[in-house]
Amino acid sequence: MVQPPDTPPRLTVALTFDHDAISSEVDRSLGPVALSRGEFGPRVGVPRILALLAERGIEATFFVPGHTVVSFPESVAAIVAAGHELACHGWAHEDLATLDAAAERDVLERSVEAIERAAGVRPVGFRAPFWSLSERTLELVEELGFVYDSSLMADDVRLYRVRRGDAHDAREGSRLGPPGRLVEVPVSWALDDWPLFEPSPGAVGPMSAPSKVEEIWREEFLHAWEHEPGGLFTLTMHPEAIGRGSRIRVLERLADFMAGHDGVRFARLDRAVADWLAAGEPGR
Ligand SMILES: [Zn+2]
Repeated sequence: MVQPPDTPPRLTVALTFDHDAISSEVDRSLGPVALSRGEFGPRVGVPRILALLAERGIEATFFVPGHTVVSFPESVAAIVAAGHELACHGWAHEDLATLDAAAERDVLERSVEAIERAAGVRPVGFRAPFWSLSERTLELVEELGFVYDSSLMADDVRLYRVRRGDAHDAREGSRLGPPGRLVEVPVSWALDDWPLFEPSPGAVGPMSAPSKVEEIWREEFLHAWEHEPGGLFTLTMHPEAIGRGSRIRVLERLADFMAGHDGVRFARLDRAVADWLAAGEPGR
């Protein structure tokens, strides 16, 4: 059973949702069908997710582009009213690796302002759209005062500090820089619903059976629960993908399966990161 909150959890589970809505389609002239697929997020996916979370008393983290904040304010307000964390996810889901320094800073600063207006508090978390970063993005994220990033893949369930000043040379090898202040909440394509469920623009299928995704996520969870005590298991989902009927049923079953294991607690990322810092940054 789930432990009382004052007992250190055996495993913390973070359900995270990238509320992209139509932000990644508006600049790419993909047309009404692609836009309508994004609209499924605020219209259908988010209400189903909020109901699922409320029924189980789970608090979660939503990474929300500024474009979603201004285009679907009622959807974002419902997330805030339910007690979930809002974190930054660009403005119009830009590929930050393609922007120059001034444009990148502008996107990040405007997205912080939008989230702060919607949530009433300054965001502490950032996730790069497309999980695509320029060489300078995370230094800028650190400079702007964020506490954590959730875009890198060097670990699975252990948080770590993002290094600064790594230097790579194909002939001479790579020199790894010292850790900075920014905390990393690692992610994985295997724990992201998008590449498993959603076709690329212009393509249809193949899409995974819900049972396949359920198996991957269940086995990743079980390994973490058995072998990584004190870890943080993070799932990345999108309302327009996980919100479909066959898939939200996967999330319902998994949430109940995970909650049925000793010492499992669900947490927003900002609180999981604060607990990790307070515990002295336990690592490998
Ligand atoms: Zn996204």
